[in-house]
Amino acid sequence: MDLQHWLNEALANHEKWTADYGTFTPHSSLQVDPTVFGSALAELQDRLRDNYPFFHPRYAGQMLKPPHPAAVVGYLSAMLINPNNHALDGGPATATMEREIISDLAQMFGYSTQHLGHLTSSGTIANLEALFVARSLHPTQGIAYSAEAHYTHSRMCGVLNMEGHAVQADNRGRMDLDALETLLKTGKVGTVVVTPGTTALGAIEPVHEVRELTRRYDARVHVDGAYGGFFTLLAGTDLPAAPWQAIADCDSVVVDPHKHGLQPYGCGAVLFKDPEVGRFYLHDSPYTYFTSDELHLGEISLECSRAGAAAAGLWLTLRLLPLTRDGLGEVLAAGRRAAVRWSEMIRESDSLELYQEPELDIVTYFPRTDPRTLSAIDAASHRVMDTGMNAPEDPIFLSVARASRAAFEARHPGITADADGARVLRSVLMKPESEDYLDTLHARVLSLLAR
Ligand SMILES: *Cc1c(COP(=O)(O)O)cnc(C)c1O
Repeated sequence: MDLQHWLNEALANHEKWTADYGTFTPHSSLQVDPTVFGSALAELQDRLRDNYPFFHPRYAGQMLKPPHPAAVVGYLSAMLINPNNHALDGGPATATMEREIISDLAQMFGYSTQHLGHLTSSGTIANLEALFVARSLHPTQGIAYSAEAHYTHSRMCGVLNMEGHAVQADNRGRMDLDALETLLKTGKVGTVVVTPGTTALGAIEPVHEVRELTRRYDARVHVDGAYGGFFTLLAGTDLPAAPWQAIADCDSVVVDPHKHGLQPYGCGAVLFKDPEVGRFYLHDSPYTYFTSDELHLGEISLECSRAGAAAAGLWLTLRLLPLTRDGLGEVLAAGRRAAVRWSEMIRESDSLELYQEPELDIVTYFPRTDPRTLSAIDAASHRVMDTGMNAPEDPIFLSVARASRAAFEARHPGITADADGARVLRSVLMKPESEDYLDTLHARVLSLLAR
């Protein structure tokens, strides 16, 4: 895709729009010397070289990749105007786009046309809002989440002064339902957080079973789909349908367009099934909400200023890659296929072992060592990551995750547990290009191990 062309197009259109308002002289305080600009920019570009090549399939580490060109062009187009989606006073166009996006997301999750939602700056803020609403509805009860849930939940329970209960995980890294039921019986839990796609292992927690269970104990369910939410598009084809179908019956859901939605950072989303929870956000603002009697997004969110450009970037992206199996779904499906195939190659290899079966697009694995001890595995995993990223000619970039001794033993009973845990290799295959690059990547990991 010709980014240069579309950027030029965006700039030309912006100039046309500004020309409608007539010319004026920019203030001298804002003028900069083009030579100084040139050298400062060169310095910036040089400093930015100190980065990992997230765009390239030789980067198979953390959950990172650049935005789609459509997101860049959409974001830039709006950023030149710099609307603030806090209120319609801050720019009606991108606020309307945000509402259209939220309606698309609601449809993807199976929510009815009656719902409440908005974009946020991140998954952290989106989850904070869901827990804030949970507290408003059940002020005397706490929150349950699995031990494998994102650490934001226990942190935000602290921020909200609520009791957080970590529920033990099973040997696939999912919330243990018997442990959850024991906890629900105490009556201490008002809302259960369930994660279809955990951040470390990509494990799919059983949203449908958690929903069933919580009904018996009058607890609400919040779905943390920051990473896994967009896999809804593959539910029932490449993935089991039930966990994602059950989101429609849950009270709230979070998804991060800046993870699997091809957006630059600064784009999360939270949706509530019951629009009535908007009452908990009730506040007045002496400065805003004056241009229109329609709902201003700031009236239903905890954040104030928020980039309208984030909505524009996502809106344009979804026009080109809609929330369908063949649209954005195909991007996720390629990563998923890559994860499945790589896990097969790892299983057949003499020098690698799978830590656990990938359920989405995250592969966890470790070198076969002699002796087969946690300390040897830990050192070998780290060595592969380190030598891979520091190989000047042909680098590859992997990441590691720490597995506790108990988690390791549950998956690999034969292991000699001579330490508290071990780092294992972890690759998030979230770029569709990973699929075609897999043979090269695998061969490269093997060659590092052969050294
Ligand atoms: C990434 C992630 C978060 C935190 O979201 P940010 O956008 O990084 O703030 C929360 N929950 C899960 C499951 C995540 O993967």
